[in-house]
Amino acid sequence: MTPGVTVWRCRGCGATFFPQRLLCPHCHGDAWEEDRVHEAVVEEIATIRHMIGASDWTPRRIASVRTPEGLLLTVGLRDDSGPGATVVLSEEGTAPYGERRRS
Ligand SMILES: [Zn+2]
Repeated sequence: MTPGVTVWRCRGCGATFFPQRLLCPHCHGDAWEEDRVHEAVVEEIATIRHMIGASDWTPRRIASVRTPEGLLLTVGLRDDSGPGATVVLSEEGTAPYGERRRS
């Protein structure tokens, strides 16, 4: 598990995206630099109860989370965080996850 989630910032105008785009929709630039975001606020929760082709699927929760830069990410939730909660972001392989910050 890697702390943070990779996002891509346009070198032309500074806009940040996830996942990566080929061209920046704002300035049509194609030069990017990677950045990492470590925290976001939960906006919406959804539960995926079934996955086609997966026989051992257990229901799991995904969340739309908003980063401080205003970027909206969809991440898997590792705990019962709800809307308004600040979650810490991490990556497992290329899949982003979030869980409540431990104090
Ligand atoms: Zn741009």
